[in-house]
Amino acid sequence: MSLSTRAPAETAAVDTPAITLRGLRKTFGDVVAVDAVDLDIADGEFFSMLGPSGSGKTTVLRLIAGFEQATAGTVRLGGTDVTRSAPFERDVHTVFQDYALFPHMSVLDNVAYGLRVRGLKKAERRDRAQQALETVRLGHLGARRPAQLSGGQRQRVALARAIVLQPRVLLLDEPLGALDLKLREQMQVELKQLQRELGITFVFVTHDQEEALTLSDRIAVFDAGRIQQLGTPREIYENPASAYVAGFVGTTNLFDAATSQRILGVAGEHAVRPERLRLSPGSDTETPRADEVRLDAVVVETIYLGTGNRVHLRTSEGVDLVALEQSTGSLDTREHRGDDVTVRFARADVVPLASGS
Ligand code: ATP
Repeated sequence: MSLSTRAPAETAAVDTPAITLRGLRKTFGDVVAVDAVDLDIADGEFFSMLGPSGSGKTTVLRLIAGFEQATAGTVRLGGTDVTRSAPFERDVHTVFQDYALFPHMSVLDNVAYGLRVRGLKKAERRDRAQQALETVRLGHLGARRPAQLSGGQRQRVALARAIVLQPRVLLLDEPLGALDLKLREQMQVELKQLQRELGITFVFVTHDQEEALTLSDRIAVFDAGRIQQLGTPREIYENPASAYVAGFVGTTNLFDAATSQRILGVAGEHAVRPERLRLSPGSDTETPRADEVRLDAVVVETIYLGTGNRVHLRTSEGVDLVALEQSTGSLDTREHRGDDVTVRFARADVVPLASGS
């Protein structure tokens, strides 16, 4: 750990959020990109904005950075209203998906550039840039040009260039989007460690639900410019507020109101995660327990996932379900297409969804 760690108390009153958005709205002509966004992001939080393409998350990021002007509402950083401030007047830094490195400069000069703009002396610039490179484990590559680096290394230079300025808030716009899966997973771990070490507030934009679930302290799920749900990864996954969130974050079994009534005996829409379903071979004639739902089904398809199986089922009532079974090491547990099975799940695992979603 080479850069100084920020304790929240050094930089702001303990309870002042790093970012406060109130009634934030942005329109482009007829398009409402962001609508009625109210959000507090705590100092030192790893916060993700998750949503499909066009849901407005990048626009929110650009409104925080000052690259866009709000049509209505306010942006506060550490309690100060910056709604009308220029980007350079805001204590935030953005890491873009394409990294935006200067190709003609060495890696060290790329990292030191922001310090030059701030008027630091050459020796100090070099020292601090070198420290930032060491933080992202690239201390030995300062003399290279960006073109002589791998994708993951370029991504780390972009991070070093941001953290050398020690901003209070780091905005990251799909920063891992250009990396292959293995590198992406490695960088996810590194990003999380870096954020913990530096104590900087991270605001992370992604359309990758797994990435958001893995990295974040809290997630805002966006749709059509609005926040559909705000919560910890566990809250969002275990208790999705709507069919939209349940469907977007992970695979789920959705029961519309009519099916819920018929199969579960309850009113309104419901969801059950595939890993909550338990399968046993054959049809079960015992009376089901009061705390569980039991259904007869036939296996439509079994997909081998390495870590387990994804089993597609159709119940005797004609409802399609998906079950996830962890691999137990036994070769005999795999269900085959056409097999009759009994599906069980606990009533406690049935999540009611908000009506009209
Ligand atoms: P992506 O994941 O594809 O980046 P996003 O969720 O970040 O999507 P935004 O880029 O915030 O979504 O866009 C929200 C909406 O605003 C979209 O309908 C988009 O077409 C529109 N939009 C964004 N920027 C502009 C612009 N400069 N001019 C006109 N429309 C825009």
